[in-house]
Amino acid sequence: MSTLRMFKILKLRNNNVYGKRLLSTLTTKDAGYYDVIIGGGGLVGTSLLVSLAKNETLCNKKILMLEGAPEYKPQSRSTYSNRVSAINKQSVQLLKSINTWDFIESIRQKPVLEMMVWDAISGESINFNHPNFSDSVACIVENDLMLEAMYRQLNDLPNVKIMNEAKIDNCLLPKDGAEKSEVTLKSGEKFTCDLLVGADGFNSTIRKAMDVDNYTVMYKQMGVVATLELDTSECPGNTVAWQKFLSTGPIALLPLTDNLSSLVWTTTYENARELLKMSPSEFVDSLNEAFSKDYRNNSLVNNVMKFVDTVSPFKSNQMLPTPPKVINVQNGSRAQFPLGFGHASSYACKGAVVIGDAAHRVHPMAGQGVNLGYGDVLKLTEVLAEATYNGSNLNDIQYLLKYEQARLRANLPIMLGVHALQRIYCNDFAPLVLARSLGVKFTNSVPPIKKFFMEKAMA
Ligand SMILES: Cc1cc2nc3c(=O)[nH]c(=O)nc-3n(C[C@H](O)[C@H](O)[C@H](O)COP(=O)(O)OP(=O)(O)OC[C@H]3O[C@@H](n4cnc5c(N)ncnc54)[C@H](O)[C@@H]3O)c2cc1C
Repeated sequence: MSTLRMFKILKLRNNNVYGKRLLSTLTTKDAGYYDVIIGGGGLVGTSLLVSLAKNETLCNKKILMLEGAPEYKPQSRSTYSNRVSAINKQSVQLLKSINTWDFIESIRQKPVLEMMVWDAISGESINFNHPNFSDSVACIVENDLMLEAMYRQLNDLPNVKIMNEAKIDNCLLPKDGAEKSEVTLKSGEKFTCDLLVGADGFNSTIRKAMDVDNYTVMYKQMGVVATLELDTSECPGNTVAWQKFLSTGPIALLPLTDNLSSLVWTTTYENARELLKMSPSEFVDSLNEAFSKDYRNNSLVNNVMKFVDTVSPFKSNQMLPTPPKVINVQNGSRAQFPLGFGHASSYACKGAVVIGDAAHRVHPMAGQGVNLGYGDVLKLTEVLAEATYNGSNLNDIQYLLKYEQARLRANLPIMLGVHALQRIYCNDFAPLVLARSLGVKFTNSVPPIKKFFMEKAMA
């Protein structure tokens, strides 16, 4: 089917599907009580809304989602969005459980069959794939497509309301003496609920109201994103995700189609500014140079790695990986995002919990952010259904702590691992380069260790 025809069909469907429901979102006069209020309608908040509304035990609960941004409108599919996510098996499981995966698959998603990662300074590389490429290691999906699939599921769910341009100003929780959790919007409107869920991103107002410590690090780096056209004549099918660790940060290509990939280039503020100002052809040249230039010019690193090659059974591949050449950048697809680390010391208190980036913000180099958030959604839905089944209130702290403990156990090792990688790799201090390169060489050469890391990253 031609792209234009697909776009027309989608537009028609969208008008039918959303026209009615958007009219039924709350007006500013509807104030009141809800069982659950979700603050923030990004990928994680919206997936929780669908997950709760579709859960057999919870489907009678009244749920309100408050989103600060204007109402959601699906984007045209005539081009690819510059915001995409590498999602793992557990996330696909969540998307399947809320009936959104079939729609995503019917439109577009790209399975990644292999990941190739290498160190610019030592040249040491590691690749991840399932035996004989029997299964994908991740799927690349546009964020907007995931949101669209979720919104389609919300149609005709009577107990669910979405309010847009509803910026949460402050919250009062049972710990402050309130009987129920209470939310006040910038407009002055108030709502109360049994459980307030903070899904309002890394600057979360709800987390601040919970009074939990939030450990943050600003990496002083930007993530530059863009949609790129590649010459894939040497890489048919374009099924490999490439990531090169430069001393300023990693540069990565995530496949979207047979000849399009999405860029995430972590770099300094200054370089990001320049990359955004360049003409398209200068930008393409900078990308090709960053991917193809041989940075192996540190004699200490080169000599030690050569020596290790001669005395150890683990030999390095002297050839550097060769990703496909970039030939064009999609008009208007360049953008930048500040990168940082954040972790709340606690995810729950009586009457409130945090999920997604509101609870944990991680560097995108390992593609884990939204995957951790979807993991929160799966667990929180399970715990709230259990509380309801057992006749408990949704704000029962025993159940909320169950959510917190399970998610801290799952999230913390990944958060710390990615933070450590950021620290170790955004650095050209020779002893550190040697240590990390020997670690990669060892991991790549010992199959059980490699399998362990692969399973942890792609679970
Ligand atoms: C360049 C880049 C690449 C990435 N790549 C990947 C990847 O490949 N894989 C992956 O898993 N993750 C990736 N991530 C991370 C991922 O995008 C985030 O973890 C994820 O989007 C967080 O979703 P969220 O819903 O928790 O938060 P957000 O997306 O921040 O959503 C929060 C929502 O809350 C709303 N809001 C905020 N404050 C208020 C308020 N006061 N009142 C009402 N509403 C409010 C906002 O408008 C927003 O809609 C990447 C991130 C970046 C920057």
